[in-house]
Amino acid sequence: MPTPKTMIAAVLQEFYKPLELVNIPIPQPTNDEVLIKIEASGLCFTDVHIWKGEHAPPSLPLIMGHEGVGRVVALGPNASRLKIGDRVGIGYVYAACGHCRDCLTGGENYCPDFDATGYSVQGCFAEYVCLRDQWANKIPNEITPIEAAPLMCAGAAAYASIKKTGVQTGDTVAIFGMGGLGQYAVQIAKLMGLRVIAVDISTNKLATAESLGADERVIANDQAGENITALGGAHGCVNFAPVTETWPIMLEACNPRARIVLTGVPAGEMAFYTYQVVERGLTVAGSSASNRQEMNELLALAAGGKVKGVINEVAFKDINAALTALTEGRVKGRTVLKMEGTN
Ligand SMILES: [Zn+2]
Ligand SMILES: [Zn+2]
Repeated sequence: MPTPKTMIAAVLQEFYKPLELVNIPIPQPTNDEVLIKIEASGLCFTDVHIWKGEHAPPSLPLIMGHEGVGRVVALGPNASRLKIGDRVGIGYVYAACGHCRDCLTGGENYCPDFDATGYSVQGCFAEYVCLRDQWANKIPNEITPIEAAPLMCAGAAAYASIKKTGVQTGDTVAIFGMGGLGQYAVQIAKLMGLRVIAVDISTNKLATAESLGADERVIANDQAGENITALGGAHGCVNFAPVTETWPIMLEACNPRARIVLTGVPAGEMAFYTYQVVERGLTVAGSSASNRQEMNELLALAAGGKVKGVINEVAFKDINAALTALTEGRVKGRTVLKMEGTN
């Protein structure tokens, strides 16, 4: 079937105004690019920050979206790794320089020179997107596009965060914040053989965490640190909650030499009493997005069907309503836009 000449894209023209659904020319893959016909595209809270201008992109107009999955339909002249028909996905790291210290040591997501999908380059809220041959992630056939889309950012970020705690099979990890990332993290941690303590302010969200395999549930209140300690404490803590209130709880919940991984980005500062960290040999690390190897490991885990998102499927044409619902906190789990004409 010949590829059409134009596509529908949701374009951000002005911050905090509805995205404009317009007909524009389909991009043509040049150099090492491949053209993808998008099947599913996830909505992330980072899109809300970009939409509002709180995380302003280098320029507008912009097609946002960094959880895109689809099939390769055309190849640029220097694309050699992917072939027509391959199902691939992209997350926040569109491509990086590939030759700096960070890129060469598995830290491409910290490359000072990386392009961010749907931020510094055009993203996946469109029927087609061009991706770089070496940077697109191959999606195993066992995962549907709808399930795969949120793995590209939320799932991969959750996986990379758990891995950074450095915990070993049988250790206990306390996961703070049972939103989309937390829900993925619980399932991933269980697949890694960890004991999981889920922490949230909402009993409903904790019930969901338990249904996803969490061993223990702790309400995030003033006694939370004490309660986690009573459960044996944590060898690693991961914070997905966008609030600073989890910080003192994590410090109290940590066993000696535990590692705290910060992934959620609350606006406030997190203070600590130096002795508390030094005396117990704690480590605090940040984690942002993931590299391609972490993505591959997550996709291999998920290919067994064992990592399921709580997914709210929406037609692409309803993207503005979906973005508003996410902004207003009315969404449970992850929103995935389904593109018309795909199965
Ligand atoms: Zn994201
Ligand atoms: Zn680099």
